[in-house]
Amino acid sequence: MRIAQSLIEEMVAHAREDLPNECCGLIGGGAGEARALYRARNAFASPFSYRVDPADQYRIIEKEMREGGEELVAIYHSHTKSAAYPSQTDLNEAVSWPEQLYLIVSLQDSEAPEVKAFWLKDGKIAEAELVVE
Ligand SMILES: [Zn+2]
Repeated sequence: MRIAQSLIEEMVAHAREDLPNECCGLIGGGAGEARALYRARNAFASPFSYRVDPADQYRIIEKEMREGGEELVAIYHSHTKSAAYPSQTDLNEAVSWPEQLYLIVSLQDSEAPEVKAFWLKDGKIAEAELVVE
């Protein structure tokens, strides 16, 4: 997926603002390109897991993305103290949205945040390419 550096920076800023909890949100776009970032509440409000708040999810996908002519292209969340790699919890949770690309923002090294993309399908983790422009 192609993504602008500014969207990566917005994700990192969101991750920092929601400390000590994990943050989460949705990315809208199309044709393999991320175009807009939508912050959502973490319904779990937890440092160890996340779930996109269902009301936010509905509003963002059905209203904001639709009005912007976008589709959901990725789901992002942060890892506050671990690497940008899916946890077992992430893998389990992805069962409900197996066709989506998952972005993970890691603040493990707070000076050098990292963002990586993964497909989480059939209990398997496959890293996806992120082309930052
Ligand atoms: Zn995670």
